[in-house]
Amino acid sequence: MRIDIISLFPEFVAQCAGFGVVGRAQERGLLSLHGWNPRDHAEGGYRRVDDRPFGGGPGMVMMIDPLLATLDAMQADDAAPAHVIYLSPQGKALTQARARTLAAMPRLALLCGRYEGVDERLIEARVDEEISIGDYVLSGGELAAAVVVDAVARLQDGALNDAESAAQDSFEDGLLDCPHYTKPVAHALGAVPEVLLSGHHGEIARWRRQQSLLRTAQRRPDLLESAPLGAADMAFLRE
Ligand code: SAM
Repeated sequence: MRIDIISLFPEFVAQCAGFGVVGRAQERGLLSLHGWNPRDHAEGGYRRVDDRPFGGGPGMVMMIDPLLATLDAMQADDAAPAHVIYLSPQGKALTQARARTLAAMPRLALLCGRYEGVDERLIEARVDEEISIGDYVLSGGELAAAVVVDAVARLQDGALNDAESAAQDSFEDGLLDCPHYTKPVAHALGAVPEVLLSGHHGEIARWRRQQSLLRTAQRRPDLLESAPLGAADMAFLRE
């Protein structure tokens, strides 16, 4: 998959994406990142990309024309049409389900705002969707773009090694993941639950499922309303 980053600091996103699973996905040719700086497409000696907001008030607004020129250059670079996402605190919250849908698209373009954001007319004309990474305000869209890149990169076929399989992760089956343990078996901080050492695959699977149910009920009961639960799950939760 191809992801284009439109940002005043595109190298920031590329750096975040250089490590671990996302770095490996790029090495394996599963993901290519392309940075585009609107300043390179701005006119005039100062290569200005922002101006004061009409109506007054604090801050600056990213101007239409440098962004339009950047989006056009970005789109002309490859025939595949890019699904354009504006990272914004006003967007729909990113979920694992949305990350899966985005991960299946051949090409994304992530538009990162700065200052007070982007001129609304550009958003209306060229943005396909707005995504938020949470109910707080960042100073720029770059960290949010790096979050989207990470969430979709690890879902590319072949990005994860078996040991890191995404299928058991939180939200994949509507529940939070179960707790995990590794060596040593005995430690001053506590013991590993016996069942995990038993070698009984059925018992281990049942314990993990029940731990997931318990954790979800304790930490995110809202998820249980839409999680696909079987009769055994319902019986366990009623106990
Ligand atoms: N004035 C805007 C508002 O209140 O909705 C906030 C602008 S913010 C200081 C600058 C940029 O950071 C935004 O244009 C957006 O690209 C990015 N940003 C800030 N918070 C974000 C969030 N929670 N999720 C995604 N992007 C965010």
